[in-house]
Amino acid sequence: MREGGGLEIATILDEILSEGGYEIVNAFINSSPWARPGRHIVPRGGVIHWTGNIGRGANAWANRNYFDSLRDNYASAHTVGDDTTILAALPCLNEEVEMAYHVGAASYRTSYFGAYPNASTLGHEMCVNADGNFRESYKRAVWVMANWCFQFGWDADSAVMRHYDVTGKPCPLPFTDVVHDNRHCAALGFTEAQTAWIRDHLHIDGLLGEALWRAYKSDVADLTVILREGGLTMLQQLVQKMEELQARNSELENRFNQLEKALYLSQIPDWAADSVQCAVQKGLIDTPEGGSYDFYRTLTILHRNGTL
Ligand SMILES: [Zn+2]
Repeated sequence: MREGGGLEIATILDEILSEGGYEIVNAFINSSPWARPGRHIVPRGGVIHWTGNIGRGANAWANRNYFDSLRDNYASAHTVGDDTTILAALPCLNEEVEMAYHVGAASYRTSYFGAYPNASTLGHEMCVNADGNFRESYKRAVWVMANWCFQFGWDADSAVMRHYDVTGKPCPLPFTDVVHDNRHCAALGFTEAQTAWIRDHLHIDGLLGEALWRAYKSDVADLTVILREGGLTMLQQLVQKMEELQARNSELENRFNQLEKALYLSQIPDWAADSVQCAVQKGLIDTPEGGSYDFYRTLTILHRNGTL
């Protein structure tokens, strides 16, 4: 946590770490020439995408199922993440990595990934559905990419690119300054209202366009370092310790409650009988049973000194 103006500001990385990272669920699509051709590859970098679908319900499962349903055009990505779920649509671990169709084009803006980047990269699709939460979707996109950097030993600064950097397609739109260009957004098929919604919702703490892309790269690089240093293991141990302390705390709370109950006497003690009777007669109390030891003692003192 960083201190800022007296308030603790939770950064993206703090949030990811305090949530212990996220599970990547295997939900492989069927073999198909359109989305899962079954070609094994050795990935040299990762490419970040957005689904481009801001409609309600365009979540991780919907996009994964879309890839699975393709019959006339090529499209897929290794992972898809929304605000709660990360799915692996294609195998993307170790020797089992298969090629997806996420970054194909007639020509490329970089030679870093060779002549055919589909054959040397992993792709992650970030969901931006209107009924989702972009901050959560973004955090999962950071998590997936940092895990790949960690697992495959990539340099986060050079091996992580936007679809935009590889082919020129403005993807993810909120990670490029095209998002500020009304005419370009209209040409991509977004109405004015949709473009406004994108600018209003698909930012992180006010960062949008190239600024958000720089923040994303930096978040991925920082998290990769933490994963390499084994910081997450430490964090998980801390979380476990905290859970143990919480369990111990509620156990003590239970015992305290039991002891507190025991303080209340089930019967009126003999030495207080006269005083209680007096108080009842004077209409001061109507339920004399179940008082605490202190209650009967005070009543007796008041009675004996003549106040009652
Ligand atoms: Zn893309």
